[in-house]
Amino acid sequence: MFENLKVPKSVKNFFQKEIEKARIGNSYIFEGPEKEIKFQFAIELAKALNCASGGCGICETCKEIQTFKHPDVKIFTTTTSVKIDDIRDFIRFMNLSKLNANYKVGIIKDGELLTPEATSALLKILEEPPLNSIIVIITSSLYRLLPTIRSRCQIVRFPPKNFVYQKISYEREFFKEVFEWQKKKQYDVFFEKLSDYLDAENPRERVSQVLKGFLLDLYHRFRDNPFFCEREISSLMMGLELLRRQASAKFVLHWIFFEKIPEVVFG
Ligand SMILES: [Zn+2]
Repeated sequence: MFENLKVPKSVKNFFQKEIEKARIGNSYIFEGPEKEIKFQFAIELAKALNCASGGCGICETCKEIQTFKHPDVKIFTTTTSVKIDDIRDFIRFMNLSKLNANYKVGIIKDGELLTPEATSALLKILEEPPLNSIIVIITSSLYRLLPTIRSRCQIVRFPPKNFVYQKISYEREFFKEVFEWQKKKQYDVFFEKLSDYLDAENPRERVSQVLKGFLLDLYHRFRDNPFFCEREISSLMMGLELLRRQASAKFVLHWIFFEKIPEVVFG
């Protein structure tokens, strides 16, 4: 199952186990930077659940799913926004009885484009999912979905494909040092270091790069068990989202140090 896919081992193992133990959930959020990988995996999951050979790729069912022609698998994709009427159609589809599949599968490829009204409509079906149905919502960042959706789905993280640690080695040492000052409560030195750090041409970009660096680093160190550093990954993603929404670099950096980053990131 899932052999030929270039998705992280942690994700493959997780779903393999869920399927083997027949405890597959009703709703998942696939989060991570590369959209196509997550989308392909959602398609493979639909095959694995519905093909008699666990996703062979060559039978009629697999072929229909792959070419988006299977009557029980719906893919919703858009480039503008996911509106309430789209979600109403989606819900109608999910509630129709299955034609010839074991599982009804609905994939929302662009979760970040859900409007608030569409989100509210979607909540209903997430709360009362039809029997043997699965909804997969794909997004680049959890924080681009409303919290009400996040809390009703199981979250599956897809680490980025390429890791670049070398680039952040200097920053890493720097942050380790600053963290030491913070631990010793030597706040005058601590703030001076941070303020020097922010005295760059584009501080927001600088902080954004370093958060991404730490994120990659965590994904690498906990590659086979990303659930272990769930909280830290969430914090770094949130920091990036705050920067994207034009929060100041200083605010995000202080927030990361004082509220969100425990030892594990600097370890
Ligand atoms: Zn098949």
